[in-house]
Amino acid sequence: PSPHGFIFRSKLPDIFIPNHLPLTDYVFQKFSGEGDGDSTSTCLIDGATGRVLTYADVQTDSRRIAAGMHRLGIRHGDVVMLLLPNSLEFALSFLAVAYLGAVSTTANPFYTQPEIAKQAKASTAKMIITKKCYVEKLTDLKNDGVLIVCVDDDVISSTDDGCVSFTELTQADETELPKPEISPEDTVAMPYSSGTTGLPKGVMITHKGLVTSIAQKVDGENPNLNFTANDVILCFLPMFHIYALDALMLSAMRTGAALLIVPRFELNLVMELIQRYKVTVVPVAPPVVLAFVKSPDTEKYDLSSVRMMLSGAATLKKELEDAVRLKFPNAIFGQGYGMTESGTVAKSLAFAKNPFKTKSGACGTVIRNAELKVVDTITGISLPRNKSGEICVRGDQLMKGYLNDPEATSGTIDKDGWLHTGDIGFVDDDDEIFIVDRLKELIKFKGYQVAPAELEALLISHPDIDDAAVVGMKDEVADEVPVAFVVRSEGSQLTEDDVKSYVNKQVVHYKRIKMVFFIEAIPKAVSGKILRKDLRGKLETECSK
Ligand code: AMP
Repeated sequence: PSPHGFIFRSKLPDIFIPNHLPLTDYVFQKFSGEGDGDSTSTCLIDGATGRVLTYADVQTDSRRIAAGMHRLGIRHGDVVMLLLPNSLEFALSFLAVAYLGAVSTTANPFYTQPEIAKQAKASTAKMIITKKCYVEKLTDLKNDGVLIVCVDDDVISSTDDGCVSFTELTQADETELPKPEISPEDTVAMPYSSGTTGLPKGVMITHKGLVTSIAQKVDGENPNLNFTANDVILCFLPMFHIYALDALMLSAMRTGAALLIVPRFELNLVMELIQRYKVTVVPVAPPVVLAFVKSPDTEKYDLSSVRMMLSGAATLKKELEDAVRLKFPNAIFGQGYGMTESGTVAKSLAFAKNPFKTKSGACGTVIRNAELKVVDTITGISLPRNKSGEICVRGDQLMKGYLNDPEATSGTIDKDGWLHTGDIGFVDDDDEIFIVDRLKELIKFKGYQVAPAELEALLISHPDIDDAAVVGMKDEVADEVPVAFVVRSEGSQLTEDDVKSYVNKQVVHYKRIKMVFFIEAIPKAVSGKILRKDLRGKLETECSK
């Protein structure tokens, strides 16, 4: 080891990353004066309607929208919430906000009214861009003065109920767009994540962080599983999550590829789109891999255009990976591993000469221009190869911190700049990283985040519940599902169904509690911290009964 311990780096040489540039300048650099990009090539395809936008269209439209937002009062540093399904409008709005030096906070449009309100208030969103069908959930926010913009085609002018039409924004004059002074340290995106502990927090991702993260994946001489301008990249993974936003949408734009946007995953529709648009890259999450593997219909479609399948967001079991490789014999299969707070940490490194030499079950090798170490969870000392510990990462791609939460920030990024992922894994003799366990509280349902602390707070708010704890239970389809341990107050007759219906109506579908166990007391350390390991052990005993 070096004097600083065992530190792992990419086999690829570091590159110059122009992370002094504002995000939009960097993303469209190829299409600026000196670049070699073809502005007439396809940038975005709306899978739902077939509408196509070229690189020229996307830049013009998003700058017009930015001018429109500016006219409505959005300024440098203001927060705009994107509450949209995958759509052209999502992509254009995100870019528009970035042009203004403002901040996009992204949220799942299926969130319940209280979930949306919490994020909108905590992030101090001034404007929410959404669809008419979700406006009902925004009444209180609207009454509090938040501007609501509707993207629906039939909302062509501002409506009686006080919503602004997106069309009005798109018709603004691009020349009215001011040129704000954007610093590389300004926040541009603020998705919410619970990180290693506690409630969801605003993750401040800067221009510099996002530019670095994109460049680490797609810039430079790179035998990595890279995108090219000839690629058609499928995007059904939710754009409100950093995986699709950074690794798909913005990375595709940087390389001049086409992004085929699909609002939701429906296997046969997706396969039809792959065939129709000759899709070359299919990014997936493990539950989608399972759907492909189990489907009897894969033979009905011509999927031979697919040259690459990429999985991320959650652990992909080796058996599943082996099975999907058989369904796409012409495709390279790669994995990526990352975290909202950290950018991409690792990605499969498939050298052109030997593209299949990545091991099944590995989630890649550390990204370039970054450092990775594995530390003993008790001593904090860095470990050599083949030894499991907590994965830590360092580099310009990391978040700036959590919004208004210096304590959570310093609990995640230490004073030496190492971000502690809360994931347990090891690096093998070929530099490949394997994730074997999770130290943090986070539950991942099909790759979606479920924060136990959020469900625990809801449970405890019930008058008949004295205490509660939520942990993840293994599940074949969803990977993990949340289950609750509940301490009833004295004399209470509360049933499992009562508990479930109380919580489940307040949360989006994947946070719903699947099982409830009533116990005498929640096991806790002297510090008051819930001993989740004990509960997971209890769960195994209960489930094997
Ligand atoms: P999120 O912030 O929602 O992207 O969640 C990040 C977490 O998802 C990571 O810290 C891991 O626990 C998990 N994760 C992401 N990618 C992978 C992967 N390829 N393999 C295993 N776990 C993953």
